This record gives sequence, C-alpha cells and structure tokens, in this order.
Amino acid sequence: MTTVDVPHGSRSVVLTVSGVIEETHDSRSVVFAVPDELKEKFAYKPGQFLTLRIPSDRTGSVARCYSLASSPFTDDQPKVTVKRTADGYGSNWVCDNITIGDTVEVLPPSGHFTPKTLDDDFALFAAGSGITPVISILKSALSQGSGKVVLFYANRDEKSVIFADELRTLVTQHPTRLVVVHWLETLQGLPTAEQLATAAAPYVEYQAFMCGPAAFMDVVHHALDGLGVPRNHVHAEVFNSLAGDPFIDSAPVELTEADQADAATVEVELDGEKHLLRWPRKQTLVDIMLAKGIDVPYSCQEGECGSCACTVLEGKVEMDNCEILDPEDIESGYILGCQAHPITDTVKIEY
Ligand SMILES: Cc1cc2nc3c(=O)[nH]c(=O)nc-3n(C[C@H](O)[C@H](O)[C@H](O)COP(=O)(O)OP(=O)(O)OC[C@H]3O[C@@H](n4cnc5c(N)ncnc54)[C@H](O)[C@@H]3O)c2cc1C
Repeated sequence: MTTVDVPHGSRSVVLTVSGVIEETHDSRSVVFAVPDELKEKFAYKPGQFLTLRIPSDRTGSVARCYSLASSPFTDDQPKVTVKRTADGYGSNWVCDNITIGDTVEVLPPSGHFTPKTLDDDFALFAAGSGITPVISILKSALSQGSGKVVLFYANRDEKSVIFADELRTLVTQHPTRLVVVHWLETLQGLPTAEQLATAAAPYVEYQAFMCGPAAFMDVVHHALDGLGVPRNHVHAEVFNSLAGDPFIDSAPVELTEADQADAATVEVELDGEKHLLRWPRKQTLVDIMLAKGIDVPYSCQEGECGSCACTVLEGKVEMDNCEILDPEDIESGYILGCQAHPITDTVKIEY
C-alpha cells in the first residue's frame, strides 16, 4: 500500500486509485477517483495525459507521463494504462505496486495530441502502448463525432494486444464507422512504409494521429509523406521519460536590469484571447505567461512532453531543447513554449 498525503507543488493533487485492471501480461490500467472539487481541474480532452509522481528510494521520486486511455465522453473516471518497459523503473513500479485505495500524486491533464474537432474522419496508427491516447480519440470520435475511424494497430503478438476486447465490441457497435486492422509482428514482421502506405491509401483525406515507438512512427510518417498527406493533417505523440521534476514549483529566472531591457514584444493568442507581452530573451514563453497569471498549457518544462506546443505566426524564436519535434514541424512554425526564446524584436504566437 502506498500513500501520499500532501502534494509537493502548487499544481499537483493527490488522487485515490479506484480501480486496477490487468490488461495484458505486461500492462495494467489504473483508474482514479476524482472528487467533485477537482472535476474541473481534471477535465480532459481525448489524447491528453497525466503525469504521475512515482516514489523512489534512490532519487525521492521520478515523474512519468501516462496518456489517458479513457474517453471523457464514455468513461466515468480517468484511466491511464502503463506497459512495462524492459528494465524501466517507473512503469514496473506502477505495475508491481499500485493497488486500489492507494493515493498517487498527479499533475492535471495536459498535452496537445488532441483533435480540433471530433467530427473529422480519423486514420489512427498505434503500436504497443501507443494505443492509449489513440483509443481515447477513437472512443470519443465514435461517441461525439459523425465521421469514420480506421485504426491500424501493431503489436508483437496476440497476447500483447491491449484493449483487444474493447476494440472488438466497438467494431460490433459501429460496423459502418469503425475499421480496426491488427498487425502482429510475430506473424507479419515489422510493418514497412510500403505496407503502411497500401493500408493508408484509401484514407489520405482523414486526420492522421499516430503513437508508438520511434521506429514505428518513422515508418508511418514515411508512408503518409509518400501518400502526400499534408503535414497539418498528421499528429504524433512521442513517449519518453522525464528527467526533471515537474512536481516542484520552478523558481523564477533571476533577471538583471540589462536582461529586463533586452526584451522582444510578443502577441500571444490563447483560447481566442490575445495578450501583448514583453518577452525578455532570457525567459521562455511559458515563464512570461505564467508571470502574468495567464493559464498557459505546460507540464514538464523540459521540452519532453509537448504540452506547451504552439505556432509562431510571425517573427523568429530559438529553442533550448526541441528533440521531440520533427524538423518538418519546426519548419512549419511549431515550437515548444517552455523552451522558446525570442530572436526577432516582435513575435506573434498562437496556441
Ligand atoms: C506524453 C506521454 C505519454 C505517455 N503515455 C504512456 C502510456 O500511456 N503508457 C505507457 O506505458 N507509457 C507512456 N509514456 C511513457 C512513460 O512516460 C515512460 O517513459 C515509460 O513508462 C518508461 O518509463 P520507465 O521509468 O519504466 O523506464 P525508463 O525511463 O527507461 O526507466 C529507466 C530510468 O529510470 C532510472 N531509474 C532506475 N531505477 C531507479 C530508481 N530506483 N529510482 C529512480 N530512478 C531510477 C534509470 O536511471 C533510468 O533513467 C508516455 C510518455 C509521454 C511523454
């Protein structure tokens, strides 16, 4: 039994585990009870994730992001699904230790891997644990949207297929709207870009969402590029482990008078509202928005989780760490607010 009483920072809360589901031999889901007073804070969009604080004797804790595999429209409580990573610390800890009634410190939902509208048609590509944000989008689109959904789902073997029964039931319930194509590595080998292009060819007009290991995502990107799917129709979620501790409130960057004076001006549009701000070059976009009390989306502040992604419409910025972005995304103006510093004197940004 693990218990946490008090959160470590101002953003996190302590939630009680209301359910644990063994999904496959190497993955399990953890369901959280959200008390009424936290319902608004824990409202989420399909495709978003939670960050869990996992205790460690060695370092005190590690922070790990887990996508919500539940749908805000069809599931009563938020659920994350964790697959064991070979020699991984956090995933094995969750799979070995969490039981019903435990309390876990959690950061609220975050992330931008979420459809603009659920009425689109969706081509979804998932491999292994990459199914988690994808099934949330799939269930939400079927429940709230009007379009078609095709899921291409790759796994090592049949026993590794997370949510196999749930997907079977959804196909039965939505026979004209949902197609699920399973791909098993033990039977078919790893999917190639050519094979994926053949599978995806009828769906080039659909919004594409993909999540899985890097090699899988590379192949899907390759296939979609080859089919001429426009880059702004292609959305990818990268899974990695956080190195820092987003649970601790970060200290504001100390600025000298000279640093204060060396500032750009930025117009940021967030949730339809425009803000005109001074942007000292030593600070990040997230820093200056937080300092002004603006509810900017962010989570890890390391450039690892992608929650703060936004688009530069005018001007130029540079980033400290932007490894999770593809060169094509950067080319089209996509940036991480928590890593961005202005280069030009005026910048225009849209979330
Ligand atoms: C947005 C996002 C969503 C994600 N969603 C999911 C999801 O839905 N499902 C899923 O399964 N994964 C998901 N992930 C991946 C997940 O966050 C982890 O990266 C994954 O579970 C592997 O973590 P791990 O700690 O097991 O492995 P690793 O990160 O590989 O663990 C090894 C690391 O832990 C350190 N370590 C070892 N022992 C200890 C110790 N005792 N104390 C402290 N540190 C130690 C090691 O030094 C090493 O750095 C997501 C990631 C992101 C960014």
